Amino acid sequence: MAGVVIVGAGQAAASAAAKLRSSGYSEPITLIGDEPQPPYQRPPLSKAYLLGQMPLERLWLRPHEFWAEQQVELRLGTRVEAIDRAAKQVRLADGATVGYQHLVLATGAAPRHLPAAIGGALKGVHVVRNLADVDGMAPDMRPGARLVVIGGGYIGLEAAAVARKLGLEVTLVEAAPRILGRVACAETADEIRALHAAHGVDILEGIGIAKITGDDRVTGVDLADGRHLPAELVIVGIGVTAEAALAKAAGLDVDGGIVVDEFCRTSDPAIWAAGDCAVFPFEGGRMRLESVGNAIDMGELVAANIAGEPRAYVPKPWFWSDQYDAKLQIAGLLTGHDRVVTRRAGGFSAWYFRGTTLIAVDALNDARAYMVGKRLIEAQKSPDAAAIADPAIDLKAFL
Ligand code: FAD
Repeated sequence: MAGVVIVGAGQAAASAAAKLRSSGYSEPITLIGDEPQPPYQRPPLSKAYLLGQMPLERLWLRPHEFWAEQQVELRLGTRVEAIDRAAKQVRLADGATVGYQHLVLATGAAPRHLPAAIGGALKGVHVVRNLADVDGMAPDMRPGARLVVIGGGYIGLEAAAVARKLGLEVTLVEAAPRILGRVACAETADEIRALHAAHGVDILEGIGIAKITGDDRVTGVDLADGRHLPAELVIVGIGVTAEAALAKAAGLDVDGGIVVDEFCRTSDPAIWAAGDCAVFPFEGGRMRLESVGNAIDMGELVAANIAGEPRAYVPKPWFWSDQYDAKLQIAGLLTGHDRVVTRRAGGFSAWYFRGTTLIAVDALNDARAYMVGKRLIEAQKSPDAAAIADPAIDLKAFL
């Protein structure tokens, strides 16, 4: 019987395969991905790569020869269509089957699209999830073109920043009362809004869109309040959904993603899940994260568990976002915070507390705040909130 089959060839898949080999696993490993490229990093797709400042070669997670050297078989440009759990095999789009002893689902997440009925499928309307999306949008990113970004999350904001740098006229529309509503406090959102305003991006908050206009190609966006924004292109950044259809069709537990236990095992003991597609136990409930750090850690943990070094998953969330020349770094999870303390000492930082417990930090152009905050959260140490706000106090004193 074949060893490990990994569905998806992204961040979590690459981490799982590399960790299996470094843990001494010697059975066959097969990565099956529906994109034509070997595993690559996605974050630059809305940053340096979109800007044209990072060549394709720097996106690869590993040099091409790594996979052959490690005896990891890559089957690319091939979608897995079904899992036969009884026979322990997956069926590919071309009808071929591949047997497994352990199956790892690392299928990631798919971007939400706006319905075709309101113009979501017009030419010039783009999402930013994979290389094909970004390569397809590049010809539209011309200086002077008018861009409407729909959605004020990190990807929409990063795309807006790149577009401004490339000389486009940019309006960003957010239906919720403010940008970054799901992922950052109002104080951090205020900083990011001001950054974009200083670069000439028009941010409209609390306004939905009625439709994207155009016959074949986008001509603009009708807002819910009756305004019309002319546009040559639209970028839709309204979030993602976990790629869990394969798991669901196979009868695995799915609840907003593929449900796993603390060892990242699904409801079938021979099947594991890691990365954006996986929902794991957290603080008595369930959690799904969309970040490189989470994909790496879960992928490696699944590999360790398969290789016989059982470990439970304890997330150590971290994230970053580059916009213009500003760097936002985030440690921890803000879920359930009841207080935010801000600090201005060179850069800006927002410290999230639940009661007296520090649970997350956003640091904008403040590497020290990020480093200290991350170390405190991981050590479960909480500084005095009032002292944090005092820029005269050196943060290292809290460690
Ligand atoms: P992915 O990397 O998405 O890989 C999943 C792969 O599986 C995909 O190639 C998919 O096509 C394939 N697949 C799905 N179903 C099948 C199937 N049935 N058969 C075969 N193949 C299949 N995170 C950060 O921490 N910091 C950032 O700054 C940041 N910026 C980002 C910017 C962009 C534009 C995007 C899109 C993401 C960003 N992220 C960032 C998120 C991060 O890239 C993801 O969390 C990470 O890639 C998740 O890894 P994954 O392996 O779970 O999924």
